Amino acid sequence: MQSFSTTLFADADAEYGSADYVLFGVPFDGTTSFKAGCRDAPLAIRQVSYNIETYLPYYDLEMTDVSVHDMGDMYVECLPDLMVEQVADGVSDLIKDEKIPIMMGGEHSVTVGAVQALQPKWYVVCDAHLDMQDEYRGSPFNHDCVTARVSETVENIVIIGARSGCQEEFAYAREHYHLYTADEVEERGIRNVLDEVSGLIGDDSLYLSIDADAIDCCLTPGLGTPEPFGLTPADIRAVVRRLCKNAVGFDYVEVLPNDQGQTAMVAAHLIREFIAGHFCGKQE
Ligand code: MN
Ligand code: MN
Repeated sequence: MQSFSTTLFADADAEYGSADYVLFGVPFDGTTSFKAGCRDAPLAIRQVSYNIETYLPYYDLEMTDVSVHDMGDMYVECLPDLMVEQVADGVSDLIKDEKIPIMMGGEHSVTVGAVQALQPKWYVVCDAHLDMQDEYRGSPFNHDCVTARVSETVENIVIIGARSGCQEEFAYAREHYHLYTADEVEERGIRNVLDEVSGLIGDDSLYLSIDADAIDCCLTPGLGTPEPFGLTPADIRAVVRRLCKNAVGFDYVEVLPNDQGQTAMVAAHLIREFIAGHFCGKQE
């Protein structure tokens, strides 16, 4: 039998029933405030995933030994509150089936539904932005309100890589959250920051959300709201490697595939890093 190429994520070819990890896309960018188009990210990330070897030297692991299923993309509603409900319902089904959900945005507001369903003890986000507006442009589910909505569900919040927000947001984040700005990461080094974050979280459950614009836009320019002076892809990889073991869910959002493919390529690698690291963590 010939094999045919598909648009599913590379090596995510397990049947749903036998899969430990379930990938899906949420192609929603209805509230994007600057450049639109991150609805095209799930397909772009899947396409570039075929460039990556199945073997991960860091983990001495063949991805083909991990059971991953790609469900494809959610057929999303166009209103943000309805989309959030859809994601929460979809993730609830995955939890019942004991799957680890891995979501590809879409804009950052897709995260809210996943966190509502999973109810983790900690929310860890890498983002250039604080996303702390209570409402923006007529919706409390705008992609600029993600941390504000998540804080209604999760008490403990860690923000890594922030460098854009208003004075009130930064003041509030410093007082109520564990905030590690991009400047602090540069000064202290990501490993020192992660030692501290790991100490805070201990053995608690966490949800890990990567907003692609946490990375410096001069390195990965495929972004709807690009910001310079950010983290590096290796910084984010260090976050994923360190925190994946306790994670009950993961997402990678806000990729706008209008560059040469490098932003989607980093996303594809980090999705695999998450799966591999989580899988190897369970074997220990
Ligand atoms: Mn964000
Ligand atoms: Mn952002």
